[in-house]
Amino acid sequence: MHRRTLLRVAIGVCALPAVSFAQSPRASARLGVIAEAYFTGWFEDFYVKAAQTGLARSLLDRELAGLSPDPRVSVLDARQPEFARPVGDYIKGVTGEGRIVAGRNRRALPAFATIEQTYGVPRDILLGVWAMESGFGAQQGDMDVIRSLATLAAAGRRRDWAEGELIAALNIIAAGHIPRAQLKGSWAGAMGQTQMLPSTYISLAVDGDGDGKRDIWNSAPDALASAAHLLAQGGWRRGEGWAREVVLPAGFDYGLSEGPQQTPGWWLAKGARRADRGSWSSADSQALCTLLLPSGAAGPAFLALPNHFAVRKYNNSLAYALGVGLLADRFAGGGGLVTPWPQETPLSLGDRMAAQAALIKQGYNPGPADGVVGLGTRQALRAWQKAHGLPADGYLSPAVISRLKG
Ligand code: CA
Repeated sequence: MHRRTLLRVAIGVCALPAVSFAQSPRASARLGVIAEAYFTGWFEDFYVKAAQTGLARSLLDRELAGLSPDPRVSVLDARQPEFARPVGDYIKGVTGEGRIVAGRNRRALPAFATIEQTYGVPRDILLGVWAMESGFGAQQGDMDVIRSLATLAAAGRRRDWAEGELIAALNIIAAGHIPRAQLKGSWAGAMGQTQMLPSTYISLAVDGDGDGKRDIWNSAPDALASAAHLLAQGGWRRGEGWAREVVLPAGFDYGLSEGPQQTPGWWLAKGARRADRGSWSSADSQALCTLLLPSGAAGPAFLALPNHFAVRKYNNSLAYALGVGLLADRFAGGGGLVTPWPQETPLSLGDRMAAQAALIKQGYNPGPADGVVGLGTRQALRAWQKAHGLPADGYLSPAVISRLKG
């Protein structure tokens, strides 16, 4: 799965003077293979930069010899699905009963007691992350992280990011955390049971089982403690929940979604009640909540607590963070949602871009018409819906698109 992790801490790459080929150690010769000119050209520059960050040339020569771009990475990086998967379909896909059982079976893992005490992140959230990232460690990705990141860096679209991660990956090898042969991950460089990027590993991975190593590939306690550390650094608040499903009264102003951050009491005064009729804990009742309508006014509504946004530091996707939280609720013994996901129609890239273009043409600001429906597009859509007397839920549906185009 393509994921966008926020904690892409760019390390080690600073602005460097241009290095002429006369000064260069003819690094391309070190590749030891005949590569395409663009790759060799990138490698010449990168080798010099990497050496200037303090990485030993002996290490670079050893680990980068024979490096070539991985065509599978290029294909996956260029992939842009024609249809966006509706959030309800996605959530149903990631919260299947088999996964709920598998998560519940892992709640008694002894390491959780210490991890919860140290970082304040409950085991069910960590189980949710573990499930979403690697199916509890079963699908970590078996691609060579160095080669994947080199391919992305040479391609150039995200060069600074990929070079920073590549230098971090080389530092992981240099520090002896794991040998190159075991430095495996996804095509985008996410590694181990909790799919951390190399820079995140360096700054946040911890030794959860006390053997002196930070082995997020082979040690579940290490991977889970590292994920808890990341979430704690991302603002996880001990003792608070992540979100509660709510039901909204007739005539509710859907334009409040993704808007004000207010306490559950403020929302209750607007008519937003907990869907399970439970009461808010004293900690949660003090927290500022944001209303989320992931599939519009027809679908389930959530009051998201600050911890929802801490999960989005792991992966800045509403659907991902919802998946983690809903899994956690089920692992803890909770039931499913009260309001079912509505029937949703997958929208084509062309339709999404046309909707954004129509908003721009009518004076709204959805951001670039790139087909990516993010917060900017939803806010522009809410303003357009409001101006047209429609429920302002910011949800792009086929009906809204045809009206926008008309
Ligand atoms: Ca360890």
